[in-house]
Amino acid sequence: MASPLVSIALIIISVAVLLLPCRAELRQFVQGTKADRSLSFLVVGDWGRRGLYNQSHVAVQMGRTGEKLDIDLIISTGDNFYDNGLTGVNDPAFQESFTNIYTAPSLQKQWYNVLGNHDYRGDVEAQLSPVLTGIDSRWLCLRSFIVDADIVEFFFLDTTPFVDKFFTDPEDHHYDWSGILPREKYLKNLLMDVDSALKTSIAKWKIVVGHHTIKSAGHHGNTKELAGTLLPILEANNVDLYINGHDHCLEHISSSKSAVQFLTSGGGSKAWRGDVSWWNPQEMKFYYDGQGFMSLQITESAIDVVFYDVFGDVLHKWSTFQRVYSAI
Ligand SMILES: [Zn+2]
Repeated sequence: MASPLVSIALIIISVAVLLLPCRAELRQFVQGTKADRSLSFLVVGDWGRRGLYNQSHVAVQMGRTGEKLDIDLIISTGDNFYDNGLTGVNDPAFQESFTNIYTAPSLQKQWYNVLGNHDYRGDVEAQLSPVLTGIDSRWLCLRSFIVDADIVEFFFLDTTPFVDKFFTDPEDHHYDWSGILPREKYLKNLLMDVDSALKTSIAKWKIVVGHHTIKSAGHHGNTKELAGTLLPILEANNVDLYINGHDHCLEHISSSKSAVQFLTSGGGSKAWRGDVSWWNPQEMKFYYDGQGFMSLQITESAIDVVFYDVFGDVLHKWSTFQRVYSAI
């Protein structure tokens, strides 16, 4: 029979285990920077098509730019595998659309991936599985997580469950909502976790990454569910950039109503030429309806953003600066 002390310990452990799902804190990873504390990386989205629709060409240019910038990591904004995510951890699409495509030496870095709506049409757990990291050590995908890279902190968010139509009008598609339901509780917890993680962040720069747009003139346009729930949290916590995919374009919106910059990098393969709506030209800093990707170089005092097309040519550059306080 267990001693009273052991029994008390077991009760404490049981309570702790029960409490964990309620706290639902975001997992945190640490990413190294260069010796001068700077960080360089590429962002690509909406890509996995076994090299088709110029995916391979974009990958080659990513490799060249990645080498020039001596990148430290790569971010994927989701819709990693078309059309319907992965069928399981043994789906050959993982190698055919990822491992065998992004082969350049400069791209052999850590990839931080979020899920897109197309990924939810397959076996979501497969993309989150460490088995994939065993197959290709670059791969890391969680629903929502934090990456602490010293001067910058990244908050990766699972945005698909926010979008009403995937629940109310899924058309012919089946979405794998295991791990999400009940939806309201999942979204409430996620928003609370993001808010509290942002509030406690002491990083110089805060970047939030999700698949879905908040503001976009592209095919899908704004995601009203995120504009109504997530955006106020980003604004209240001085987030610098919101980076997304979903619209298959490259885009930079700088809204007069928000200090957050909205950057879309969803040109990893198939693009939608000409599929763009009118947007206030004062706010629309850049829109390109073809394939490509984006780079960011971050120091303590500045962020430099560059967009590239499928030929690796620079399409748009933008920089922001932070006031560096010094004691005189
Ligand atoms: Zn999408």
